[in-house]
Amino acid sequence: MLNAAMEQKATDGLNLRLSIASNTAVPFLLFGLILGKASTDIWTSTLWVLAGLAIYTLAEYVFHRVVLHEFATEGHRLHHVEPFAPHAMPFSAGLSVHTAMLVILAISFGFELGLCIALGSSIGYALYCQLHELIHRDPSLARRLVPRLYRHHMLHHRADQTEGEENNFGVLTTMWDRVFGTYRA
Ligand SMILES: [Zn+2]
Ligand SMILES: [Zn+2]
Repeated sequence: MLNAAMEQKATDGLNLRLSIASNTAVPFLLFGLILGKASTDIWTSTLWVLAGLAIYTLAEYVFHRVVLHEFATEGHRLHHVEPFAPHAMPFSAGLSVHTAMLVILAISFGFELGLCIALGSSIGYALYCQLHELIHRDPSLARRLVPRLYRHHMLHHRADQTEGEENNFGVLTTMWDRVFGTYRA
């Protein structure tokens, strides 16, 4: 029994490390691709990267609020109860999300701008992964480093247990909760 629990813990730990490593590698990969390809000027590229970051934060809010809390609730509930189970954060998810995102962006904006937006979004996603892991894995460090965001997410986990009182869906920023009226301090 103890062995099974330890094995599960090791799998979860490996899963988490792979998740973070792959999600962090994607921005570097995209940055390399942009350096090799870039023909637009640095300021235009930077602007599109920042736009990608902003798009990510909105996507994070909408996905969390609509998809995870309205439709695919089962797996997400497990995360709320058991934040580090493999089903809560499968390591391949980041790569599949980025690949799909890159294809859609490249078709919509052209390959080069698509790459810049994808870089901004993937930086957002990598930051989200690190932050979310920090909040659950090392609460005291998170409280010191990012007190506002820590409290914001903890209130989300707590409120989630009370039906009809769900709030604080943003993880990387509180901005969209303020815009859409789901902010609680
Ligand atoms: Zn949630
Ligand atoms: Zn969480």
